Amino acid sequence: MVLMKMYIFIKNEFALSSKFIFSKKSYVFVAILQETVYNKLKNQIVLEVVLMKKKPLSDRALRVNPSATLKIDAEFKRMLAAGMDVVGFGAGEPDFDTPDYIKEAAHEAIQQGKTKYTPASGILDLKKAVCLKLKNDNGLDYEPSQIVISNGAKQSLYNALTVIVNPGDEVILPAPYWVSYYELIRMAGGTPVTIMGEEKNDFQITKEQVLNAVSDKTKAIIITNPSNPTGMMFSNKMLSDIAQICVNNGIYVISDEIYEKLVYDDEKHISIASLGDEIKDLTILINGVSKTYAMTGWRIGYSASNKEIASHLSAYQSHSTSNPNTIAQYAALKALSHDDGSINMMKEAFKKRRDYMVERINTLPYVSCRKPTGAFYVLMNVEKLFDKKYKGEVIGNVDNLCSLLLKNKLLSVVPGTAFAAPSYVRWSYATSMENIKKGLDRLEQFLSEITD
Ligand code: PMP
Repeated sequence: MVLMKMYIFIKNEFALSSKFIFSKKSYVFVAILQETVYNKLKNQIVLEVVLMKKKPLSDRALRVNPSATLKIDAEFKRMLAAGMDVVGFGAGEPDFDTPDYIKEAAHEAIQQGKTKYTPASGILDLKKAVCLKLKNDNGLDYEPSQIVISNGAKQSLYNALTVIVNPGDEVILPAPYWVSYYELIRMAGGTPVTIMGEEKNDFQITKEQVLNAVSDKTKAIIITNPSNPTGMMFSNKMLSDIAQICVNNGIYVISDEIYEKLVYDDEKHISIASLGDEIKDLTILINGVSKTYAMTGWRIGYSASNKEIASHLSAYQSHSTSNPNTIAQYAALKALSHDDGSINMMKEAFKKRRDYMVERINTLPYVSCRKPTGAFYVLMNVEKLFDKKYKGEVIGNVDNLCSLLLKNKLLSVVPGTAFAAPSYVRWSYATSMENIKKGLDRLEQFLSEITD
Protein backbone atom coordinates (compact mmCIF):
# COMPACT_ATOMS: atom_id res chain seq x y z
CA MET A 1 0.00 0.00 0.00
CA VAL A 2 2.77 2.39 0.99
CA LEU A 3 4.61 1.44 -2.16
CA MET A 4 1.53 2.06 -4.26
CA LYS A 5 1.07 5.54 -2.78
CA MET A 6 4.72 6.34 -3.32
CA TYR A 7 4.45 5.18 -6.89
CA ILE A 8 1.45 7.34 -7.63
CA PHE A 9 3.15 10.29 -5.97
CA ILE A 10 6.36 9.91 -7.99
CA LYS A 11 4.44 9.24 -11.18
CA ASN A 12 2.28 12.32 -10.85
CA GLU A 13 4.84 14.71 -9.47
CA PHE A 14 8.16 13.82 -10.96
CA ALA A 15 8.40 10.98 -13.36
CA LEU A 16 9.10 11.45 -17.01
CA SER A 17 7.77 7.98 -17.56
CA SER A 18 7.00 5.15 -15.20
CA LYS A 19 5.76 1.64 -14.87
CA PHE A 20 4.46 -0.45 -11.99
CA ILE A 21 5.31 -4.12 -12.35
CA PHE A 22 3.50 -6.79 -10.39
CA SER A 23 4.67 -10.31 -10.06
CA LYS A 24 3.61 -13.03 -7.64
CA LYS A 25 6.53 -12.37 -5.36
CA SER A 26 7.35 -8.68 -5.68
CA TYR A 27 6.25 -5.20 -6.75
CA VAL A 28 8.69 -3.05 -8.56
CA PHE A 29 8.22 0.37 -9.94
CA VAL A 30 10.47 1.76 -12.53
CA ALA A 31 10.54 5.49 -13.14
CA ILE A 32 12.73 7.68 -15.21
CA LEU A 33 13.40 10.84 -13.23
CA GLN A 34 15.03 14.14 -14.00
CA GLU A 35 18.48 14.25 -12.44
CA THR A 36 17.60 17.10 -10.10
CA VAL A 37 14.52 15.25 -8.88
CA TYR A 38 16.50 12.09 -8.39
CA ASN A 39 19.11 13.92 -6.32
CA LYS A 40 16.38 15.42 -4.17
CA LEU A 41 14.52 12.15 -3.70
CA LYS A 42 17.41 9.81 -3.12
CA ASN A 43 18.12 11.28 0.32
CA GLN A 44 14.53 11.00 1.43
CA ILE A 45 13.59 7.50 0.36
CA VAL A 46 15.60 4.37 -0.08
CA LEU A 47 15.83 3.80 -3.77
CA GLU A 48 16.72 0.28 -4.55
CA VAL A 49 18.26 -0.40 -7.93
CA VAL A 50 16.39 -3.30 -9.38
CA LEU A 51 17.98 -4.93 -12.37
CA MET A 52 15.48 -6.18 -14.89
CA LYS A 53 15.35 -9.90 -14.07
CA LYS A 54 15.40 -12.50 -16.82
CA LYS A 55 12.78 -15.22 -16.70
CA PRO A 56 14.17 -18.39 -15.11
CA LEU A 57 15.28 -21.31 -17.23
CA SER A 58 13.19 -24.46 -17.17
CA ASP A 59 12.87 -26.45 -13.94
CA ARG A 60 14.00 -29.43 -15.97
CA ALA A 61 17.30 -27.76 -16.85
CA LEU A 62 17.89 -26.34 -13.40
CA ARG A 63 17.42 -29.76 -11.82
CA VAL A 64 20.28 -31.34 -13.74
CA ASN A 65 23.81 -31.59 -12.38
CA PRO A 66 26.71 -31.97 -14.80
CA SER A 67 28.38 -35.38 -15.05
CA ALA A 68 30.91 -35.66 -12.20
CA THR A 69 32.93 -38.30 -14.01
CA LEU A 70 33.23 -36.30 -17.22
CA LYS A 71 34.27 -33.29 -15.11
CA ILE A 72 37.04 -35.27 -13.44
CA ASP A 73 38.16 -36.64 -16.77
CA ALA A 74 38.24 -33.12 -18.24
CA GLU A 75 40.39 -31.89 -15.31
CA PHE A 76 42.73 -34.86 -15.80
CA LYS A 77 43.04 -34.11 -19.53
CA ARG A 78 43.66 -30.43 -18.76
CA MET A 79 46.53 -31.31 -16.40
CA LEU A 80 47.95 -33.74 -18.93
CA ALA A 81 47.82 -31.11 -21.67
CA ALA A 82 49.62 -28.71 -19.32
CA GLY A 83 52.50 -31.20 -19.31
CA MET A 84 51.90 -32.56 -15.80
CA ASP A 85 52.79 -36.18 -15.05
CA VAL A 86 49.28 -37.02 -13.92
CA VAL A 87 47.88 -40.59 -14.10
CA GLY A 88 44.15 -40.89 -14.59
CA PHE A 89 41.72 -43.65 -13.71
CA GLY A 90 38.52 -41.76 -14.33
CA ALA A 91 37.74 -42.57 -17.93
CA GLY A 92 35.01 -45.05 -18.76
CA GLU A 93 36.49 -45.83 -22.15
CA PRO A 94 38.89 -48.48 -23.43
CA ASP A 95 42.41 -47.17 -23.97
CA PHE A 96 42.67 -49.34 -27.10
CA ASP A 97 42.25 -47.87 -30.55
CA THR A 98 39.21 -48.88 -32.62
CA PRO A 99 40.21 -52.04 -34.55
CA ASP A 100 41.38 -51.38 -38.11
CA TYR A 101 38.69 -53.45 -39.83
CA ILE A 102 36.07 -51.14 -38.31
CA LYS A 103 37.93 -47.99 -39.35
CA GLU A 104 38.21 -49.35 -42.88
CA ALA A 105 34.45 -49.81 -43.06
CA ALA A 106 34.04 -46.13 -42.23
CA HIS A 107 36.50 -45.14 -44.98
CA GLU A 108 34.58 -47.32 -47.42
CA ALA A 109 31.27 -45.74 -46.44
CA ILE A 110 32.69 -42.30 -47.15
CA GLN A 111 34.16 -43.41 -50.48
CA GLN A 112 30.84 -44.94 -51.49
CA GLY A 113 29.01 -41.72 -50.73
CA LYS A 114 27.12 -43.06 -47.73
CA THR A 115 27.16 -39.62 -46.30
CA LYS A 116 23.49 -38.64 -46.28
CA TYR A 117 20.59 -38.87 -43.84
CA THR A 118 19.40 -42.35 -43.01
CA PRO A 119 16.02 -43.26 -41.48
CA ALA A 120 15.89 -41.60 -38.05
CA SER A 121 16.06 -44.91 -36.21
CA GLY A 122 19.02 -46.20 -38.24
CA ILE A 123 19.82 -48.21 -41.35
CA LEU A 124 18.06 -51.50 -41.89
CA ASP A 125 21.29 -53.53 -42.28
CA LEU A 126 22.54 -52.40 -38.89
CA LYS A 127 19.17 -53.20 -37.28
CA LYS A 128 19.35 -56.66 -38.85
CA ALA A 129 22.89 -57.13 -37.51
CA VAL A 130 21.67 -56.12 -34.04
CA CYS A 131 18.83 -58.65 -34.29
CA LEU A 132 21.31 -61.35 -35.25
CA LYS A 133 23.59 -60.44 -32.37
CA LEU A 134 20.67 -60.52 -29.91
CA LYS A 135 19.66 -63.91 -31.25
CA ASN A 136 23.15 -65.45 -31.18
CA ASP A 137 24.47 -63.94 -27.94
CA ASN A 138 21.34 -63.53 -25.87
CA GLY A 139 18.83 -65.99 -27.31
CA LEU A 140 16.42 -63.16 -28.05
CA ASP A 141 14.12 -62.81 -31.08
CA TYR A 142 13.58 -59.25 -32.23
CA GLU A 143 12.56 -57.81 -35.60
CA PRO A 144 14.35 -54.80 -37.11
CA SER A 145 11.26 -52.66 -36.38
CA GLN A 146 11.96 -53.20 -32.67
CA ILE A 147 15.48 -51.80 -32.87
CA VAL A 148 16.32 -48.10 -32.62
CA ILE A 149 19.91 -47.06 -33.33
CA SER A 150 20.97 -43.94 -31.41
CA ASN A 151 23.92 -41.65 -30.74
CA GLY A 152 25.38 -43.93 -28.11
CA ALA A 153 23.74 -46.00 -25.41
CA LYS A 154 23.36 -42.78 -23.46
CA GLN A 155 20.89 -41.42 -25.97
CA SER A 156 19.05 -44.74 -25.99
CA LEU A 157 18.70 -44.42 -22.20
CA TYR A 158 17.58 -40.81 -22.48
CA ASN A 159 14.99 -41.72 -25.10
CA ALA A 160 13.78 -44.71 -23.07
CA LEU A 161 13.25 -42.69 -19.90
CA THR A 162 11.53 -39.91 -21.80
CA VAL A 163 9.15 -42.34 -23.43
CA ILE A 164 8.31 -44.19 -20.19
CA VAL A 165 8.35 -41.59 -17.44
CA ASN A 166 5.70 -38.98 -16.62
CA PRO A 167 6.43 -36.18 -14.13
CA GLY A 168 6.10 -37.64 -10.64
CA ASP A 169 6.73 -41.24 -11.68
CA GLU A 170 9.30 -43.18 -9.70
CA VAL A 171 12.17 -45.17 -11.14
CA ILE A 172 13.95 -47.71 -8.95
CA LEU A 173 17.68 -47.30 -9.16
CA PRO A 174 20.03 -49.85 -7.59
CA ALA A 175 23.12 -48.17 -6.12
CA PRO A 176 26.03 -47.69 -6.36
CA TYR A 177 24.77 -46.46 -9.73
CA TRP A 178 26.28 -45.02 -12.87
CA VAL A 179 26.18 -41.28 -12.42
CA SER A 180 24.04 -40.46 -15.48
CA TYR A 181 21.03 -42.64 -14.53
CA TYR A 182 20.13 -40.40 -11.62
CA GLU A 183 20.18 -37.25 -13.73
CA LEU A 184 18.50 -38.88 -16.73
CA ILE A 185 15.55 -39.92 -14.56
CA ARG A 186 15.23 -36.37 -13.26
CA MET A 187 15.58 -34.92 -16.75
CA ALA A 188 12.55 -36.99 -17.70
CA GLY A 189 10.66 -35.51 -14.74
CA GLY A 190 10.86 -38.70 -12.69
CA THR A 191 12.01 -39.38 -9.15
CA PRO A 192 14.88 -41.81 -8.60
CA VAL A 193 14.25 -44.25 -5.75
CA THR A 194 17.65 -45.64 -4.85
CA ILE A 195 18.25 -48.95 -3.16
CA MET A 196 21.73 -49.65 -1.89
CA GLY A 197 23.60 -52.86 -2.64
CA GLU A 198 25.96 -53.77 0.17
CA GLU A 199 29.63 -54.52 -0.36
CA LYS A 200 29.44 -57.73 1.65
CA ASN A 201 26.91 -59.00 -0.94
CA ASP A 202 29.13 -57.91 -3.84
CA PHE A 203 26.91 -54.82 -4.08
CA GLN A 204 23.89 -56.88 -5.10
CA ILE A 205 20.50 -55.57 -4.13
CA THR A 206 17.99 -57.95 -2.54
CA LYS A 207 14.49 -58.99 -3.52
CA GLU A 208 13.13 -57.40 -0.30
CA GLN A 209 14.75 -54.08 -1.16
CA VAL A 210 13.08 -54.07 -4.59
CA LEU A 211 9.70 -55.04 -3.12
CA ASN A 212 9.98 -52.29 -0.50
CA ALA A 213 10.83 -49.74 -3.17
CA VAL A 214 7.80 -50.53 -5.34
CA SER A 215 4.91 -48.06 -4.97
CA ASP A 216 1.88 -47.03 -7.03
CA LYS A 217 4.12 -44.51 -8.72
CA THR A 218 6.83 -46.96 -9.77
CA LYS A 219 7.18 -46.97 -13.53
CA ALA A 220 10.51 -48.64 -14.13
CA ILE A 221 13.69 -50.11 -12.71
CA ILE A 222 17.13 -49.64 -14.22
CA ILE A 223 19.58 -52.50 -14.08
CA THR A 224 23.17 -52.51 -15.35
CA ASN A 225 24.70 -55.88 -15.86
CA PRO A 226 27.71 -55.94 -15.42
CA SER A 227 27.64 -52.76 -13.41
CA ASN A 228 29.43 -49.49 -13.67
CA PRO A 229 30.75 -48.59 -11.04
CA THR A 230 30.90 -51.87 -9.09
CA GLY A 231 31.98 -54.20 -11.91
CA MET A 232 29.64 -56.80 -10.43
CA MET A 233 26.96 -58.91 -12.14
CA PHE A 234 23.41 -59.60 -11.06
CA SER A 235 22.97 -63.22 -10.02
CA ASN A 236 20.52 -65.25 -12.10
CA LYS A 237 18.31 -65.57 -9.04
CA MET A 238 18.23 -61.80 -8.59
CA LEU A 239 17.41 -61.26 -12.26
CA SER A 240 14.48 -63.66 -12.06
CA ASP A 241 13.25 -62.07 -8.81
CA ILE A 242 13.33 -58.65 -10.45
CA ALA A 243 11.59 -60.03 -13.54
CA GLN A 244 8.83 -61.53 -11.39
CA ILE A 245 8.27 -58.31 -9.44
CA CYS A 246 8.14 -56.30 -12.67
CA VAL A 247 5.70 -58.65 -14.36
CA ASN A 248 3.45 -58.70 -11.27
CA ASN A 249 3.35 -54.91 -11.15
CA GLY A 250 3.58 -53.96 -14.83
CA ILE A 251 6.90 -52.20 -14.23
CA TYR A 252 9.27 -51.60 -17.14
CA VAL A 253 12.90 -52.70 -17.01
CA ILE A 254 15.61 -50.62 -18.58
CA SER A 255 18.38 -53.15 -18.93
CA ASP A 256 21.73 -51.56 -19.71
CA GLU A 257 23.94 -54.31 -21.15
CA ILE A 258 26.73 -52.13 -22.51
CA TYR A 259 29.43 -54.15 -20.65
CA GLU A 260 27.94 -57.48 -21.64
CA LYS A 261 31.06 -58.71 -23.45
CA LEU A 262 33.43 -57.69 -20.68
CA VAL A 263 32.76 -60.58 -18.34
CA TYR A 264 35.62 -62.54 -16.78
CA ASP A 265 36.38 -65.96 -15.35
CA ASP A 266 33.48 -68.37 -15.65
CA GLU A 267 30.74 -65.76 -15.41
CA LYS A 268 28.11 -65.66 -18.12
CA HIS A 269 26.04 -62.65 -18.99
CA ILE A 270 22.28 -63.19 -19.05
CA SER A 271 19.85 -60.64 -20.40
CA ILE A 272 16.77 -60.21 -18.21
CA ALA A 273 14.70 -60.03 -21.41
CA SER A 274 15.54 -63.70 -22.08
CA LEU A 275 13.74 -64.88 -18.93
CA GLY A 276 10.30 -65.05 -20.54
CA ASP A 277 7.92 -63.36 -22.98
CA GLU A 278 6.22 -61.22 -20.36
CA ILE A 279 9.44 -59.69 -19.03
CA LYS A 280 10.77 -59.31 -22.57
CA ASP A 281 7.69 -57.25 -23.41
CA LEU A 282 8.41 -54.94 -20.46
CA THR A 283 12.14 -54.62 -21.12
CA ILE A 284 13.94 -51.93 -23.03
CA LEU A 285 17.30 -53.53 -23.65
CA ILE A 286 20.13 -51.06 -24.15
CA ASN A 287 23.50 -51.86 -25.67
CA GLY A 288 26.05 -50.35 -28.03
CA VAL A 289 29.48 -50.59 -29.55
CA SER A 290 31.37 -48.08 -27.36
CA LYS A 291 32.92 -50.39 -24.80
CA THR A 292 33.19 -53.74 -26.58
CA TYR A 293 34.74 -52.42 -29.77
CA ALA A 294 36.66 -49.43 -28.36
CA MET A 295 34.31 -47.11 -30.27
CA THR A 296 33.37 -44.52 -27.65
CA GLY A 297 33.85 -41.60 -30.02
CA TRP A 298 31.75 -43.06 -32.83
CA ARG A 299 28.56 -42.70 -30.80
CA ILE A 300 26.49 -45.71 -31.71
CA GLY A 301 24.15 -47.38 -29.25
CA TYR A 302 20.83 -49.16 -29.66
CA SER A 303 17.68 -50.27 -27.93
CA ALA A 304 15.49 -53.34 -28.42
CA SER A 305 11.96 -53.17 -27.10
CA ASN A 306 8.37 -54.05 -27.96
CA LYS A 307 7.06 -52.50 -31.18
CA GLU A 308 4.92 -49.88 -29.49
CA ILE A 309 7.79 -48.54 -27.40
CA ALA A 310 10.17 -48.76 -30.37
CA SER A 311 7.89 -46.61 -32.51
CA HIS A 312 7.72 -43.93 -29.80
CA LEU A 313 11.49 -44.05 -29.30
CA SER A 314 11.90 -43.64 -33.02
CA ALA A 315 9.42 -40.75 -33.25
CA TYR A 316 11.07 -38.99 -30.34
CA GLN A 317 14.50 -39.35 -31.90
CA SER A 318 13.26 -38.22 -35.31
CA HIS A 319 12.38 -34.82 -33.84
CA SER A 320 15.41 -34.42 -31.63
CA THR A 321 18.59 -35.65 -33.30
CA SER A 322 17.40 -37.52 -36.43
CA ASN A 323 19.60 -40.45 -37.37
CA PRO A 324 22.89 -41.16 -35.63
CA ASN A 325 25.98 -40.44 -37.73
CA THR A 326 25.65 -42.33 -41.01
CA ILE A 327 29.32 -43.26 -41.37
CA ALA A 328 29.48 -44.49 -37.78
CA GLN A 329 26.45 -46.69 -38.46
CA TYR A 330 28.35 -48.44 -41.26
CA ALA A 331 31.37 -48.84 -38.97
CA ALA A 332 29.14 -50.33 -36.27
CA LEU A 333 27.61 -52.69 -38.82
CA LYS A 334 31.10 -53.99 -39.58
CA ALA A 335 31.94 -54.23 -35.87
CA LEU A 336 28.89 -56.38 -35.17
CA SER A 337 29.22 -58.64 -38.17
CA HIS A 338 32.97 -59.45 -38.14
CA ASP A 339 35.45 -60.71 -35.61
CA ASP A 340 39.21 -60.39 -36.10
CA GLY A 341 40.12 -61.42 -32.57
CA SER A 342 40.74 -57.90 -31.28
CA ILE A 343 37.74 -58.00 -28.95
CA ASN A 344 39.10 -61.04 -27.19
CA MET A 345 42.57 -59.54 -27.02
CA MET A 346 41.13 -56.45 -25.27
CA LYS A 347 39.13 -58.58 -22.89
CA GLU A 348 42.20 -60.64 -21.93
CA ALA A 349 44.15 -57.44 -21.29
CA PHE A 350 41.34 -56.07 -19.07
CA LYS A 351 41.29 -59.30 -17.10
CA LYS A 352 45.04 -59.17 -16.41
CA ARG A 353 44.77 -55.57 -15.29
CA ARG A 354 41.83 -56.34 -13.02
CA ASP A 355 43.72 -59.21 -11.39
CA TYR A 356 46.79 -57.08 -10.78
CA MET A 357 44.81 -54.13 -9.44
CA VAL A 358 42.63 -56.13 -7.09
CA GLU A 359 45.53 -58.13 -5.69
CA ARG A 360 47.68 -55.09 -5.14
CA ILE A 361 44.93 -52.96 -3.53
CA ASN A 362 44.25 -55.72 -1.05
CA THR A 363 47.89 -55.74 0.10
CA LEU A 364 47.77 -52.03 0.96
CA PRO A 365 46.86 -50.58 4.37
CA TYR A 366 43.53 -48.76 4.97
CA VAL A 367 42.00 -49.77 1.62
CA SER A 368 40.34 -52.88 0.21
CA CYS A 369 38.19 -54.05 -2.69
CA ARG A 370 36.08 -56.97 -3.91
CA LYS A 371 37.01 -58.73 -7.11
CA PRO A 372 34.67 -57.51 -9.85
CA THR A 373 33.43 -60.01 -12.40
CA GLY A 374 32.86 -57.66 -15.32
CA ALA A 375 33.21 -54.20 -16.93
CA PHE A 376 36.49 -52.36 -16.20
CA TYR A 377 36.01 -50.77 -12.80
CA VAL A 378 37.11 -51.47 -9.25
CA LEU A 379 35.39 -49.87 -6.26
CA MET A 380 37.95 -49.40 -3.50
CA ASN A 381 36.74 -49.03 0.08
CA VAL A 382 38.49 -46.04 1.70
CA GLU A 383 36.38 -45.61 4.83
CA LYS A 384 39.29 -46.34 7.17
CA LEU A 385 41.08 -43.24 5.90
CA PHE A 386 38.42 -40.72 6.86
CA ASP A 387 39.56 -40.15 10.45
CA LYS A 388 43.25 -40.27 9.51
CA LYS A 389 45.51 -37.36 8.57
CA TYR A 390 47.59 -36.52 5.55
CA LYS A 391 50.28 -33.87 6.21
CA GLY A 392 48.41 -32.97 9.40
CA GLU A 393 45.03 -32.51 7.65
CA VAL A 394 42.13 -34.77 8.58
CA ILE A 395 41.03 -36.52 5.38
CA GLY A 396 37.37 -36.48 6.41
CA ASN A 397 35.61 -37.68 3.28
CA VAL A 398 36.14 -39.20 -0.14
CA ASP A 399 35.99 -35.92 -2.08
CA ASN A 400 38.80 -34.51 0.01
CA LEU A 401 40.74 -37.75 -0.31
CA CYS A 402 40.51 -37.56 -4.11
CA SER A 403 41.61 -33.97 -4.23
CA LEU A 404 44.56 -34.73 -1.88
CA LEU A 405 45.58 -37.58 -4.19
CA LEU A 406 45.35 -35.35 -7.23
CA LYS A 407 47.20 -32.42 -5.67
CA ASN A 408 49.93 -34.36 -3.89
CA LYS A 409 50.41 -37.46 -6.00
CA LEU A 410 49.03 -36.43 -9.40
CA LEU A 411 46.68 -39.39 -9.16
CA SER A 412 43.18 -38.92 -10.57
CA VAL A 413 40.47 -41.29 -9.32
CA VAL A 414 36.71 -40.78 -9.04
CA PRO A 415 35.11 -40.17 -5.63
CA GLY A 416 32.20 -42.49 -4.92
CA THR A 417 29.96 -39.52 -4.13
CA ALA A 418 29.28 -39.48 -7.87
CA PHE A 419 27.74 -42.97 -7.55
CA ALA A 420 25.94 -42.63 -4.18
CA ALA A 421 28.84 -44.56 -2.66
CA PRO A 422 30.69 -42.07 -0.42
CA SER A 423 32.92 -44.71 1.22
CA TYR A 424 34.51 -45.69 -2.09
CA VAL A 425 36.82 -44.55 -4.84
CA ARG A 426 36.33 -45.82 -8.39
CA TRP A 427 39.30 -46.92 -10.47
CA SER A 428 38.86 -47.62 -14.15
CA TYR A 429 41.37 -50.17 -15.41
CA ALA A 430 40.75 -49.20 -19.01
CA THR A 431 44.30 -47.89 -19.06
CA SER A 432 47.72 -49.45 -19.62
CA MET A 433 49.34 -51.82 -17.12
CA GLU A 434 52.19 -49.32 -16.89
CA ASN A 435 49.77 -46.61 -15.74
CA ILE A 436 48.08 -48.99 -13.34
CA LYS A 437 51.42 -49.82 -11.70
CA LYS A 438 52.34 -46.14 -11.56
CA GLY A 439 48.97 -45.20 -10.06
CA LEU A 440 49.11 -47.88 -7.41
CA ASP A 441 52.71 -46.93 -6.55
CA ARG A 442 51.48 -43.41 -5.98
CA LEU A 443 48.61 -44.61 -3.83
CA GLU A 444 51.02 -46.76 -1.81
CA GLN A 445 53.29 -43.79 -1.25
CA PHE A 446 50.34 -41.63 -0.19
CA LEU A 447 49.19 -44.28 2.27
CA SER A 448 52.68 -44.56 3.77
CA GLU A 449 52.43 -40.87 4.68
CA ILE A 450 49.14 -41.24 6.55
CA THR A 451 49.14 -40.50 10.28
CA ASP A 452 46.60 -40.88 13.11
N1 PMP B 1 25.83 -47.14 -19.72
C1 PMP B 1 26.87 -47.28 -18.87
C2 PMP B 1 26.68 -48.12 -17.65
C3 PMP B 1 28.09 -46.64 -19.10
O1 PMP B 1 29.10 -46.79 -18.25
C4 PMP B 1 28.20 -45.83 -20.25
C5 PMP B 1 29.49 -45.08 -20.58
N2 PMP B 1 30.22 -44.65 -19.53
C6 PMP B 1 27.10 -45.71 -21.10
C7 PMP B 1 25.94 -46.38 -20.81
C8 PMP B 1 27.14 -44.84 -22.33
O2 PMP B 1 27.67 -45.47 -23.41
P1 PMP B 1 27.71 -44.76 -24.85
O3 PMP B 1 29.14 -44.37 -25.08
O4 PMP B 1 27.29 -45.82 -25.80
O5 PMP B 1 26.80 -43.62 -24.83
